[in-house]
Amino acid sequence: MMKILITGGAGFIGSHVVRLFVQKYPNYQIFNLDALTYAGNLENIKDIESAHNYTFIKGDIVDEVFVVNLFKKYQFDAVIHLAAESHVDRSITDPLAFAKTNILGTMNLLNAFKVIWKDNWQHKLFYHISTDEVFGALGETGLFTETTPYAPNSPYSASKASSDHFVRAYGETYNLPYVISNCSNNYGPNQFPEKLIPLFINNIVHNKSLPVYGDGKYTRDWLYVIDHANAIDTIFHKGKIRETYNIGGFNEWQNIDLIKLLCQQMDEKLGSGKGTSEQLITYVKDRPGHDLRYAIDATKLSQELGWKPSVTFQEGLSKTIDWYLANQAWLHNIINGAYQHYYQKQYNQE
Ligand code: NAD
Repeated sequence: MMKILITGGAGFIGSHVVRLFVQKYPNYQIFNLDALTYAGNLENIKDIESAHNYTFIKGDIVDEVFVVNLFKKYQFDAVIHLAAESHVDRSITDPLAFAKTNILGTMNLLNAFKVIWKDNWQHKLFYHISTDEVFGALGETGLFTETTPYAPNSPYSASKASSDHFVRAYGETYNLPYVISNCSNNYGPNQFPEKLIPLFINNIVHNKSLPVYGDGKYTRDWLYVIDHANAIDTIFHKGKIRETYNIGGFNEWQNIDLIKLLCQQMDEKLGSGKGTSEQLITYVKDRPGHDLRYAIDATKLSQELGWKPSVTFQEGLSKTIDWYLANQAWLHNIINGAYQHYYQKQYNQE
């Protein structure tokens, strides 16, 4: 039975990856390692917690001794590494926390993998999940490809770029069998409501303002989280060792257009009348180092490994809104905690 360690499996993307692997591969033993920071929530994977092939482990990847002992105990065959500090705004106020988790935490996992398997890597895999933000910003045209030079602009993207480099360097130096994927912005169920789409759904429900950075012209390439999980499954099983794959939905939206689409869908679903939600849009001071445009060329993944997104943006957004509206208690529990304080500080709201 292959033993797979998935890190960060109580978070947004990780919870979908854990569920997919536990349900689709009953012959794999899935271990979910998560520190349960503010972003980790076991409710995200409640439905699979008693599955025969699933084990949850609470622990911090920054704790070197803990990580090595964990690897010695379970002798994992593969790692899918998602645990990270993931919110750009938080990285601006506390960059060191990002360096610790995203760089040192990744190195601890790499070292532990190396200690266990020495050079006996056959049939082993270290799969590192990363972001398109490592490539920096694009102008009005062009797409990020797998060969675009790294040019991170935020402490978050710098920490992810650094971890990507360490993974690659362990491949070159120690022959570590690795694969890396760099994905565009995700949206969907279980996303912590500091991120744009869940934040705005919740604000519309509660008739609160929709804070839009700068002029709202920032462009992002959006992918439904379940399509990201499927891409990870595809790359895990079919990806070539020591290759990098870009994952994206060929789905660019300027923030303001996305917000208007979200408002329209919310008005329809809530029956609140055309144009109601848009009145909540408020422009706020821009974030420092804000990248103008990200867009991913996912041709390599689709042509070589046959992956493609399963839903259009309109469909994915509609499913996402339905999920948040049906899971108000999930949102309520999160918003009442520490997140509330952070949100007030960030947007200076009551
Ligand atoms: P998230 O913040 O929702 O979840 C991160 C998870 O990691 C949480 O469960 C948290 O408890 C856990 N964690 C944090 N620090 C830890 C530590 N020191 N030890 C163990 N666990 C720890 O993040 P997400 O949005 O699901 O992102 C997951 C991964 O995907 C990250 O590596 C991120 O860089 C990458 N990514 C995210 C996006 C996106 O749009 N969200 C896009 C591309 C890539």
